Amino acid sequence: MEVKIARTAGFCWGVRRTVDQVMQVADQGRGPVVTLGPIIHNPQAVARMRDKGVGTVAAIAEVAAGTTVVVRTHGAIRSELEGAAARGLEVVDGTCPYVKYPQAMAQRLSREGYHLVIVGDADHAEVKGVVSYCEGPCTVVKPGAVVPSIKDKKVAVIAQTTCIGADFERIVGALALRHKEVRAVNTICNDTEERQEDARALATSVDAVVVVGGKNSANTRHLAEICRAIQPRTWHVETASELDPGWFAGCQVVGISAGASTPDWVVTGVGDWLRALA
Ligand code: SF4
Repeated sequence: MEVKIARTAGFCWGVRRTVDQVMQVADQGRGPVVTLGPIIHNPQAVARMRDKGVGTVAAIAEVAAGTTVVVRTHGAIRSELEGAAARGLEVVDGTCPYVKYPQAMAQRLSREGYHLVIVGDADHAEVKGVVSYCEGPCTVVKPGAVVPSIKDKKVAVIAQTTCIGADFERIVGALALRHKEVRAVNTICNDTEERQEDARALATSVDAVVVVGGKNSANTRHLAEICRAIQPRTWHVETASELDPGWFAGCQVVGISAGASTPDWVVTGVGDWLRALA
């Protein structure tokens, strides 16, 4: 059995940058370090940080004086950062620059009088952060959901960085037919599109696909959906320990795709397991 690993599998540029920042801060011995929320959506990577003494808090109110706070790739809610500044806490901003872009656009477009529409998951930390930069009316539309009626004439649409292009297109199209002015700003991260393209190509050329990454990782779940639509024998696992030999009966070629927050060593572990099975 051959094992094919997608070219883009594993940490994206933004996640690698933030993880490196956390490791540097932890190694500098500047006292306690915490991340504001899990640094990335991957339990194995978070466990490694914990081993280095880096804690996780859900809110600035939980942070003790003298602690360095690292903001995760998904960014933070504006009022939380203002709270940290007011308390004089040292903050290392690990927000991915591609997440800063929709935050900045949310602020700018709402100041220009647009009703902001964000295509994404309202419960996701990145979207909560983007919403907090909006200074006017804002509606979050979940991909696949019915586009709600909005009374304002001017509407601007942006997307969660991990949004699938077709979902963004559908919602922009629906709004364009209803409003006098619709401004669409594509804030989808290129990494996401490239990774999704890679996953599509992989799924068409193999007998089964393993998508590796946190069950709470939106971009990993999207990859699994994309692969499953092409190759029904698709499984989403966090680590090799979840794999079942029976899934690969009769397979000649198995593909591995992985989310942007999946550490290389976890991808390697799945590859090794499959090769050992072969
Ligand atoms: S997927 Fe894109 S937006 Fe998200 S952390 Fe990686 S580089 Fe940044």
